[in-house]
Amino acid sequence: MNIDTIKSMADRTNRHERALKAILKRNKKWGCLYPGCNRKSIFSHAISKSISLAAIAEEGHLSTIRSLRKEDVKMLQFGSISVHDATAFNGFCEAHDAMFLTLDTKEISDAKSLFLQAYRSVISECANESRIAALRHENFKQMDIASMLDMHVEEYPWLEEERFKALFIIEYLKMVEAEKRRASELMQLPGQLLEKLVLLEEVPLDDFSVVSTEQLSHYIPFRRLNFKIPVALNCILSVVADNTRLDFYFAVIPYKQSTLVMGIVPKLSKQWLLDRLMQSFSCDIAALNLVESIMVCSNEWYMTPSVLAEMSSEKRDVFLHDSTFINEQRFYEDYDMTLFDSLRRAISQQYPDCEAQLKLDMIDVIPQRESYQVRHKRMIDKLLSESVKLRDVD
Ligand SMILES: [Zn+2]
Repeated sequence: MNIDTIKSMADRTNRHERALKAILKRNKKWGCLYPGCNRKSIFSHAISKSISLAAIAEEGHLSTIRSLRKEDVKMLQFGSISVHDATAFNGFCEAHDAMFLTLDTKEISDAKSLFLQAYRSVISECANESRIAALRHENFKQMDIASMLDMHVEEYPWLEEERFKALFIIEYLKMVEAEKRRASELMQLPGQLLEKLVLLEEVPLDDFSVVSTEQLSHYIPFRRLNFKIPVALNCILSVVADNTRLDFYFAVIPYKQSTLVMGIVPKLSKQWLLDRLMQSFSCDIAALNLVESIMVCSNEWYMTPSVLAEMSSEKRDVFLHDSTFINEQRFYEDYDMTLFDSLRRAISQQYPDCEAQLKLDMIDVIPQRESYQVRHKRMIDKLLSESVKLRDVD
C-alpha cells in the first residue's frame, strides 16, 4: 500500500468518526423526527429524565459503559454520565417533544402511555441506527472500487482474475444497497407506532399484559414490578434467523418504588423465542433476570453509581468483559452471573418462598471465562461471518 492510500484511508476514518459523533452526540444539524416537521431537533430523552433517571441518579449522574479509544484500539470501560445525556438522542423539536409530557409527569398506567413510551424508545434507537446505516451507505458509495481491489490483491491474489473481480464488485454493490435499504426499513416501525398512537384511548392497564394491534409488526409485552431496579435501559438488539434480521427493542423504566419493563418484539420471531420472552414477563423475578441478561447484551444501560461501586472487582471485570464479547451472550437466556445482589437479598426477605428463583446461591460465584485473546478472536471471526450472511438477505 502506498503512502497516499494510507493517508486517504486515515482521512476517511477520521471523517467517519466525526460523522458518527454528530449522530450519537448532541448536534444541531438534525431536524425534528416528527413526520413533516421542519424545525431543528433538541436533545430528546428516550426515558424520562424527571421521573425515571432522577429516581436512580446520584448527584445528577449515573454509571454506564463507554467505548474509549486508545490509539487505534477501542476498549469498553465503566464511566459516569449526566442525567442530561443518558438515553438522549437528536430527536424532536421542542414542540413535538412536548408530546411526551405525560411520560415525564406520571407513571405509565394506560395503553396510550405505553404506546407513547414504545414510540419514544423505538424511534430513539431507529433514528440513530438509520443514520448510521445511511452514513455507511454514503461511505461505501464514495469508495473507489478499483483502488479498493488493488488494496485487497496483496492479501487475496486470486482477485486479479477478471471473473473474481466482477464477483467482488457485485457483492460490494449489494452491500452498499443493503445499507440504504436498512436505513429506510428501520424507520417503518416508528411510523406504525405513531399511526396507532393517534387512535388509542387511555384504557387502564393491568400490571402484566401484551399489547398489539393487527397491523402492528411487533408485540408489546410489559410488566410493572413492585420494586425498583436501580437501572434505566433503552436498546435495540438484532437477531439474524433464516437470513432475516429481526429487531427487538427493550426498555427498563425505573420509578421511585417500582419499575416498568417492556419489550417491542417482532411477531415474526420463532414461537419458542416468543414463549421464552413471554415467560420472562410473567413474574417479577423472571423479569429481573431478563433485565440482567439484556444489560450484558446491550451496553445501553444507566445504573445507580453506588450499586455498581458495591459490586466486587472480580464481578465487575467479568461483567465488563462479557459486555465486550456480546456475541457470546443471548438476551433470551439467563446470564450466569447476578448483578443486582443487594436487591435480590432485599426481595428474598420480603418473599422467602422465592429464594431459588432469586438465584441467591449464585451471588458469590464468579464464573470462569476463557482468556481475553481467545474471546476477542472468536468475536472478530463471528462478526466477519455475520456480515457475509447479512449481505445474503435479499
Ligand atoms: Zn417538530
